[in-house]
Amino acid sequence: MSQSETRATALALYPEDSREAAALLKQAVPLMVRHNIPPNPVHYALWYTYSKGQEPELNRHLDRMVKDFDCFPAESATKLFRDYIIRDELEEARAGQQQAIKLVDNMERDVSRSMNGSVNFQTSLWHCLEMLEEPVDKRLPAILNELQQSTQLMQDQQALFLSQLHSAQKEIKSLREKLELAQLDATLDGLTKVLNRSTFTRLLEQLLKDAPQGVALIMLDIDHFKQFNDQYGHPLGDRVLVHVGQVLRNSLPPQARVARYGGEEFCVVLQECFELASAHTFAEQLRLKIQSLRIKARGTDKVLDTVTASFGVALAKAGDDVESLLTRADDALYRAKRSGRNRVN
Ligand code: GH3
Ligand code: MG
Ligand code: MG
Repeated sequence: MSQSETRATALALYPEDSREAAALLKQAVPLMVRHNIPPNPVHYALWYTYSKGQEPELNRHLDRMVKDFDCFPAESATKLFRDYIIRDELEEARAGQQQAIKLVDNMERDVSRSMNGSVNFQTSLWHCLEMLEEPVDKRLPAILNELQQSTQLMQDQQALFLSQLHSAQKEIKSLREKLELAQLDATLDGLTKVLNRSTFTRLLEQLLKDAPQGVALIMLDIDHFKQFNDQYGHPLGDRVLVHVGQVLRNSLPPQARVARYGGEEFCVVLQECFELASAHTFAEQLRLKIQSLRIKARGTDKVLDTVTASFGVALAKAGDDVESLLTRADDALYRAKRSGRNRVN
């Protein structure tokens, strides 16, 4: 992105004039001080946007975070920053990466072509030599000799060029792998390595657009997780989230995907699932697996506790969009919570 484009993006993000911006900052800074939020650019951006009030969902997250945490977890702040402040820019970056991969692919193809060309040229030189080795004139041996020398020189250059092409091809391959890895990383949740919310939402949107029939959504939320954090601390809570993510990932049938939807909420989308009852049965299996997790103290075999989760299931129907399907799953989850937790609804 050029400097002027970067400036244009920043202006689109913050269109306020300096008087409005100062007023918003005057609201944001006391809030940060009140909640003990360390002053850094990510936090300024979040609380500035909070004061603007244009992202109600962000405001709800921030309200919840200052209520739940004594300190403001850096990972969650970064996630909110990604999800609400620079989400459009991330989208552009993703497109940029895709373009880079295409470019690298083309380069690799060109290099392979040059390599083939090189080899062909070498072969044809050898053919010429073979033909010229049958002298028809007295002067020919001298000419031949000269030709042979210059051909040798060219061949040496060819060999050097070929080895350069080989290393270029290797470098391109490693660049491609790095780019693909970075692209994959951008689709995952940093802590649990399941899909992140924005990738999941895009995927679900696409599935519903293609054919809602057969799409089922399972939403689950760990029970009394605040209490768990309070009792054992956030680092162990984080480890529970990682384990739950692993259990879900390892249990997926073909074509199903799992994402961390929010703090201690996960979503699973199933395909080829036409009965609500089968989605329930699958969710029930997940519930039992989570319930049988043994949470151990780090580096020991001492079992400290277990966790449970509540589940809400919804089957997509014609006309559903992401919001309507999520709402039905969320309502079912709410009923599971209300009716005692650790159950599927
Ligand atoms: P319920 O059974 O009703 O779901 O109760 P709950 O305590 O799980 O739900 P609540 O929404 O009150 O609290 C969710 C808690 O999840 C608050 C916060 O401490 C915890 N949490 C959210 N994100 C993270 C995270 O990334 N790491 C850790 N350790 N805890 C998190
Ligand atoms: Mg929750
Ligand atoms: Mg919970």
